[in-house]
Amino acid sequence: MEILLDKTFEQLQQIILDLGEQKYRASQIFDNLYLGKSFSEISNISTQLKQKLTEKFIAQPCSILDKKISQDGTVKFLFKLYDNNVIESVLMKYKYGYTVCVSSQVGCRMGCKFCASTLGGLVRNLSAGEILGQVIQINKFLEGGLNQDRKVTNIVLMGSGEPLDNYDNVTSFINLVSTYGLKISQRNISLSTCGIVPYIYRLADDNFKLNLTISLHAPNDEIRKQTMPIANKYTIKQIVSACRYYFEKTKRRIIFEYVLIDGINNKPEHAQQLRHLLKGLSCHVNVISLNAVTEHDLKGTTREQALRFVNDLVALGMSSTLRRTMGQDIDGACGQLRRRYLEDNKI
Ligand code: SAH
Repeated sequence: MEILLDKTFEQLQQIILDLGEQKYRASQIFDNLYLGKSFSEISNISTQLKQKLTEKFIAQPCSILDKKISQDGTVKFLFKLYDNNVIESVLMKYKYGYTVCVSSQVGCRMGCKFCASTLGGLVRNLSAGEILGQVIQINKFLEGGLNQDRKVTNIVLMGSGEPLDNYDNVTSFINLVSTYGLKISQRNISLSTCGIVPYIYRLADDNFKLNLTISLHAPNDEIRKQTMPIANKYTIKQIVSACRYYFEKTKRRIIFEYVLIDGINNKPEHAQQLRHLLKGLSCHVNVISLNAVTEHDLKGTTREQALRFVNDLVALGMSSTLRRTMGQDIDGACGQLRRRYLEDNKI
């Protein structure tokens, strides 16, 4: 079985021709797929065509298994895939619209010590259509339509998985979601990475214009190695050089994520080191208080401590804010809901 949402419009046209149907059917099917419909729900094609499609293809690769609604309006979705794997996505409402945070892999192999997504390792990559399917189902949940009628306005590749460890499928997804159906512009898409340096250069060279977010979380390699195994492969210096290159090519300001872990990376001298590292780069530092994961013994900081760290950065002339934590009452941290589901169901 193939996933139709993996295909470009041109590929779908060819599939339709190969099934002995007329080419114009492709746009009818494409629109309905982007509205989140199954083959049986497409009203303007024949029963015969529906049958032919159902035999060979999957229309909607993500189906909602469960959802949790937070008091702050954040909704966490658990999706089931065709092979019974489960992934999670998060919907956040902001003043200007709706942001969907999607997963790019089932599990993750990066091994960051503070993150729940990586606890069971990597199961498999998601295909482009499986990443797209998350956005489509959430847009449908919001009763959004296509193009200007869509409800989802922004996408962040910040759910489970490391997007640059699944480069081809992630970039196909970006092309699909920005070109067809929902047409979400790349300016409204952010990709968050732990810093796989060669692929940062590749993103820039392939002319993507996304917002790039780096999960930095440490002011030097020694500290970074304590919590992020990827630090043994690429130095912070290499990451920052790649970011400078990305900025030169795209003119998009780089965002650095900095999760505060008590006693590890939250001292005033760490703010100084950060400033030194990022000097001259157009960037913003998003400080986040660790969302403690039961399986790990790392502790977050108080709000006051976090604000003090932000103030230290600002006093040093940097752009920095404390990120609002959302959905804390619904296992908001990366990978927590999937983890709980797998435990409860003993998978
Ligand atoms: N692999 C990518 C994207 C997924 S993680 C990356 O590393 O950026 C998305 C973000 O959530 C990262 O910044 C990650 O470091 C952060 N994160 C993971 N676990 C967290 C936790 N327990 N509390 C706060 N942020 C966390």
